[in-house]
Amino acid sequence: MARRIIMVTVKFRFVAVSLFAFIFLTSFLLLNNHYKFIYTLSNVAYSHVVVIDPGHGGIDSGTSQGDILEKDLNLKLALRVKKLLQKQKIKVILTRDKDISLEDQSSLPDTRYKRDLDARKNIINNNHPNLFVSIHTDARPDEPTASGIGIFYFPKSENSKKIAQKIHSVINEIIYNNYLKQTEKMFPIAPGDYYILRETTPPGILIEIGFLTNSKDLYRLQSEEYQSQLALAISKGIVYALKNSP
Ligand SMILES: [Zn+2]
Repeated sequence: MARRIIMVTVKFRFVAVSLFAFIFLTSFLLLNNHYKFIYTLSNVAYSHVVVIDPGHGGIDSGTSQGDILEKDLNLKLALRVKKLLQKQKIKVILTRDKDISLEDQSSLPDTRYKRDLDARKNIINNNHPNLFVSIHTDARPDEPTASGIGIFYFPKSENSKKIAQKIHSVINEIIYNNYLKQTEKMFPIAPGDYYILRETTPPGILIEIGFLTNSKDLYRLQSEEYQSQLALAISKGIVYALKNSP
């Protein structure tokens, strides 16, 4: 009887110790993985910051063709690009996310136009992004055959030029080679002395997404499918530039 009691006690101790070890090890592994997961997520989520600047807004429509306004096309595309970049765990800041102009956010004693640009510059500089992209739409009333996408960088910024090259190559691949089936040639990247490129500290580009004075571009820019392809190309170009930034 005593021998049996000892056996049962030993068995009980063995089971208890095993159970304790099992619970301890499982908790340790789970917690460890949990921390790893949080670390990985925050590491990815905050490793890259991008500012997207949809040009014009509010009182300033930019260029227009009938009731098609540049400010609306710029904003629509910016919102699409933001959504795609956020899926890649990139922090995205928009200079505007609705139909407003930004002069009220500037303390500069200057014209409305200059104060609007100053506010955009401050948003870009104060958020210290890895890069920024300013979105505009072009128009050339005296040259209606002018069409296509233009990418500009500040001539003195080598990093901006590299970003322009990366985004250019992805747009060429997705929009020109794939979507437009090489029916049109894309412009090469070009230096541009624009305020938003010149006065900002982080590297960035200005993209002109098409000409409202060209019938093909005007038609394309209103198409949901083209807008989504363009947003995809710009966001992929940004990711490509971020992964290969110095
Ligand atoms: Zn514009």
